[in-house]
Amino acid sequence: MKKNLLGRTGIEVTELCFGALPMGPLQKNLPVEECADLISTALAGGVNFIDTAQGYKTYEPIRLAIKRAKERPIIASKSPAKSFDEMQKAIDQALNELELDYIDIFHLHAARAGVDVFKKRRGALECLVENKEKGRIKAVGISTHSAKVTELASGLKEIDVVFPIINKKGLGILDGNREDMEKAIAKCVSQGKGVYFMKVLGGGSLVGEFEEAIAYGRSLPGYSSIAIGMVSQEEVEFNLAYFEGEKPKVFPSVAAMEKRFLVVKSLCAGCFKCVETCPNHAITPKEGKAYIEEEKCLTCGYCVGACPQFAIRLI
Ligand code: SF4
Ligand code: SF4
Repeated sequence: MKKNLLGRTGIEVTELCFGALPMGPLQKNLPVEECADLISTALAGGVNFIDTAQGYKTYEPIRLAIKRAKERPIIASKSPAKSFDEMQKAIDQALNELELDYIDIFHLHAARAGVDVFKKRRGALECLVENKEKGRIKAVGISTHSAKVTELASGLKEIDVVFPIINKKGLGILDGNREDMEKAIAKCVSQGKGVYFMKVLGGGSLVGEFEEAIAYGRSLPGYSSIAIGMVSQEEVEFNLAYFEGEKPKVFPSVAAMEKRFLVVKSLCAGCFKCVETCPNHAITPKEGKAYIEEEKCLTCGYCVGACPQFAIRLI
């Protein structure tokens, strides 16, 4: 599978990155062994890059898959930690639970954060830089839905890698539209930042237009990889074949990949923690309960983990 250098990091990643969110507890909630098998199939098929996060709760299957793999894959993780100490805990947790000596890329997990993110989370960023100096992480990054934050990251010497949302319909982009994000990405590339993409398939809503959606991502100069969440062997094999340049005969069924998040009203306590968590402002209070606007929902599942009542379900 084609590999690309991630900016100036010296890290070489495959064009297809295994997105480890959807198989885990926030979405499909597959058993750990099944998740590990999916990753193993991807790694055996040539993928060398896995994207996860502290909040995805998928370190265990990744650890198992790394143990079985012939070569150690590149691992990206991220944390919403704000302070130095919180970020240190997040890095230590990743190293311990993955049983690794270093994490290749560690991001500020900052999906919906605004342009003050680098000031507000200065301590967390300093922690990432210090851990990089100690060799415990190899590159510092930011994952973001914001066009303005992406642009700002292009000029920050501390940031090596940017993981922005981008897709052909501009779904989920904050502080700007698709064109603004394209320009911000181009700026990151011109400044030598490594760039890989999230949600090129719009969180699943563009799977019916798979080829066009991927072709759009690939048309943006300077990207290194595209993270795609995979939840079945069929999907993994399809993506492997596609990124190897084959034209798969059968596309995975769109129906099988469709997902929808719903608030169970009888369980919702109206605390609105989910409203604050949603990166796409898709949840609004309605008659004292949370309500998910389907058109805005990017099916990330972050609200599931944020709800203390387990009132948000994937259906
Ligand atoms: S976090 Fe859970 S309980 Fe709180 S408003 Fe959202 S759905 Fe309801
Ligand atoms: S409502 Fe928001 S947080 Fe929940 S799945 Fe949709 S986009 Fe993600």
